[in-house]
Amino acid sequence: MNTPVISTATLHFKVAVAAPLNRLFDYLPPASTHADDRESGSISSISDAKDWIGCRVEVPFGKQMRMGIVVDFIDPDAQKDDRPKSQEKPHALKPIKRRLDQEPVFNAQMLDFAKWLSQYYLYPIGEALSIMLPAALRKGASLMPAPETYLKKRFTDLNELESSLKQAKKQLGLCARLAQADIPLAKAKKEFSSGIINALIDKSLIEVVEKDYQISRNWPQRLAFAEKFAANMEQSIAISAINAATSFHAYLLEGVTGSGKTEVYLQIIEPVLKAGKQVLILVPEIGLTPQTVVRFEKRFGPVVGVIHSALNDKERLRVWQQVKDGELGILIGTRSSIFTPLYKPGMIIVDEEHDESFKQQDSLRYHARDLAVYRAKQLDIPLVMGSATPSLESLHNALSGKYHHLQLTQRAASASMPTQLLLDIKGQALEFGIAPGLLDKMRVQLEQGNQVLVFVHRRGYAPAILCHQCGYVEECQDCENPFTLHKISNNIQCHRCGEYKAIPKSCPSCGHHELATFGLGTEQIEQGLQATFSSYSCVRIDSDSTRGKNKLNTLLNEINAGKHQILIGTQILSKGHHFPNVTLAIILNVDASLFSADFRAPEKLGQLITQLSGRAGRANKPGEVWLQTHQPQHPLLQDLIQNGFADYARSLLLERKAANLPPYEHQVLIRAESQDIDQILGFLNYAYGVLQQFAKLSLFGPFPCVIEKKQGRYRFMLIAQSASRQYLHAAVSKALPVIENNKVSNNLRWHIDVAPLDFS
Ligand code: ADP
Ligand code: ZN
Repeated sequence: MNTPVISTATLHFKVAVAAPLNRLFDYLPPASTHADDRESGSISSISDAKDWIGCRVEVPFGKQMRMGIVVDFIDPDAQKDDRPKSQEKPHALKPIKRRLDQEPVFNAQMLDFAKWLSQYYLYPIGEALSIMLPAALRKGASLMPAPETYLKKRFTDLNELESSLKQAKKQLGLCARLAQADIPLAKAKKEFSSGIINALIDKSLIEVVEKDYQISRNWPQRLAFAEKFAANMEQSIAISAINAATSFHAYLLEGVTGSGKTEVYLQIIEPVLKAGKQVLILVPEIGLTPQTVVRFEKRFGPVVGVIHSALNDKERLRVWQQVKDGELGILIGTRSSIFTPLYKPGMIIVDEEHDESFKQQDSLRYHARDLAVYRAKQLDIPLVMGSATPSLESLHNALSGKYHHLQLTQRAASASMPTQLLLDIKGQALEFGIAPGLLDKMRVQLEQGNQVLVFVHRRGYAPAILCHQCGYVEECQDCENPFTLHKISNNIQCHRCGEYKAIPKSCPSCGHHELATFGLGTEQIEQGLQATFSSYSCVRIDSDSTRGKNKLNTLLNEINAGKHQILIGTQILSKGHHFPNVTLAIILNVDASLFSADFRAPEKLGQLITQLSGRAGRANKPGEVWLQTHQPQHPLLQDLIQNGFADYARSLLLERKAANLPPYEHQVLIRAESQDIDQILGFLNYAYGVLQQFAKLSLFGPFPCVIEKKQGRYRFMLIAQSASRQYLHAAVSKALPVIENNKVSNNLRWHIDVAPLDFS
C-alpha cells in the first residue's frame, strides 16, 4: 500500500505548548532552507508526519520561543481527512523552529493519558504534558542517555607488560582487567587512583573513549530471589487472588499495621518480574523510601530504580530513562513517578494509598492514586492499593464492589496490637501539656529500657506570643496569623508564609515587658521532658529538626540504635517507620479534629491515631497508646478506640452518606486569591451565577478558605458538587470558558481543584 503523499506546504502540526490556554496550536513544518537538513527531517508522507507525534519541538509563541509537544497533524488539502481543520487563519501560521527529538518523549499511550488528565483536571494540555516530563527534559536535555566514558586498552599483549610494569603492581592490575573488557571510567575511578590511571594514559597503554549508550534489558538475569516468609492464611488468600488476575483489576488491600502488606507486595510481584514485566510502586514520602527500597532490593536483587524528591534533575532523568527503556524491573517512587512510561508494564502498587502526599497541591492538582487507576486500566494490568487506614474514597469503592476487597486483620509476626486508651484531662493540672499520670507511665517504661513516643500537632515552642498586660497577640501582617515562637532558632515565624523576625522584647502595642506564650509546640515539650527525665535522651522529629539531606534517616537510625529514649514529633512520626522498642505512645490534644470545619478531619484523625499506634509495640513487647482528650465520651473517639479503624471508617462513611458528602458526591473547588476582598467576591459570585444554570449542581460558598489570608492576599472558595461525576464535569467544563472570559478573571489569582482534599 502506498502511503499517501502529502504536501509539506499545507501540513499543519498540532502542538501542545505549555501555556495557560487549554487548546492546541497549529504550526507549519520547519522552514527547512537546506534540502539536506536531516535534523528537521523531510516530510513527504503521512508516515513521516506521524514520526513527529510525541516529540518535543521549539516553536515561536508570542514574542518568545517555547517548547511544545506535537500531538497531532492535519493536512487540510488531503482528501478524506476527517480530522478537525485548523483553527488558525492560514496566513497567521508560523513554522516550527526545530524538532528536539528523533524519538517521541510521549508514546501514544502517554499522550492519551495526558489528554484524559487535561480533561479530568480541567487543566491546559500543554502544561499538563510539561508537568509529566522529568524536569531535565522540560529544560531541553536530550532524551537519549549521554554517551559513556570508558577506559580502553591500547596494548595488545598483556604478557609483554608483565616485565615493564613489574614495579607497578596496581597499574598491571588495571591492565589485566582492561585486557578482559573496557571499564566505565567512573567505575575504574572507584577502584584505582587517578595517579594509576593517568600513569597508564601517559605511557599510551590505555585511553579514554566515549561510547554511545547501549540499552541493556537484561535485568531479568540479575533477578535473585531471596527467601520469603511462608504466607499466613490471610496473606495467601490475597496473594492468590491478585496473582489470578491477568488483566486490569483494582484491589484494595486493607491490612492492619504490621499485618504483612509489604510481604504481600513482595510475593505478588515475584511472578510478574519472572515474566519479565515491570512493576511500579508508589510510596508517599521520601522518608518511607529507604526502608522500602532495601526490602525490595534484598528480595529481588539490583533491579530497583528509585525516584524521590532528593534526586537532582539528572539523576531523576536517568531513572526515568532506565524504566522507559526497560532496563529496570521495579520503580519505587513518590507521586510524580506515575508519569514514568513503562517499557513492559506488569503491575502497579500504591502503598499507603490514603496518604495525602499523593495529591499535588499546586499547579496540576492531580491525585497519583486516581491516576494509577486510570493507567492500570489503560495498560490492562492489575492495580493494588494498600493501607491500614484506607481513604474513605477507596473503602467506598471496595465496599460497593468496584474494587476487590482483600483484608489482613492480624499482625503477621507474633506482635500483638497495642491497646488504645482515652485519658480524660478535664480539670487536670498538666505539665507542659502532659497529664501527671502519663508522666508516671513514661517513667515506668523508660526504667524498663523501653522507648516512648509523644505526638504533638505543632512545631516550634509555642504557637503564639501575647502580652500579659493588654492581651495583644503578635501577628504576621501579611497573613493575619499569630507568629510561632521558635526558641531553637531564637525568632518568631509565620507558618503560612515563612516570614520570621526577632522575638519582641516588649509588647509592640502597650510597651509592657511581660510577654507570655500561648499553646504548646514540639520544642517546649521536648524541653520539659528533657528536664523531667534528665538521664534519658529526647529527640525531636519535626520539619525543623529533619531539614537537610538524610537528616531524618540519621535520626531514625539513632532511634533504632537506642541512642534516644523519648521521641517527640509531629505527623512525620506517624509515617511507616518501625520503632520496635516503643511501648508507650501519647497523643496530645486530639480534640481539635473533632470540631473542625473540614469534613475530612475525623477521617484524618482516625488515620493518624491508628498509624501512630502502629509504630508502637512492633516487636514482642505489648504497646499502649494514650489519647489525651476533654471529650472521652465522644461517640467517634469511642468507636475508634473500641472497634478499631475499620469499623470507625465504616461509621464515617454512613455519616458522609447522610450528609451528601464525598465519596457519595463529587466536588470541584474554585479558589480565588486577591488583596481585594470585593474583587474576589465579585469573581466568585459571577462564577456562582454561571454554574447556577446547571440545575443539578449544588453550590456552596463563596466562603473563606481555612487559611483566610496568606502573603497579603485574602483567600475564598466556591464548591460545586454533584452525585454524578460526569454531570459535574460536563457542567464545569462548559462553565469554565465563560468564567475565564470574565474580565476580573485576569486580575486575580484563581484555580480549579478537582476532587479537592484540602480546603486550607
Ligand atoms: P505492613 O506492611 O502491613 O506494615 P510488613 O510486611 O512490614 O507489614 O510486616 C510486618 C512484620 O511482619 C515484618 O517484620 C515482616 O517481616 C513480618 N512478616 C510479614 N509477613 C510474615 C509472615 N508471613 N510470617 C512471618 N513474619 C512475617
Ligand atoms: Zn505570614
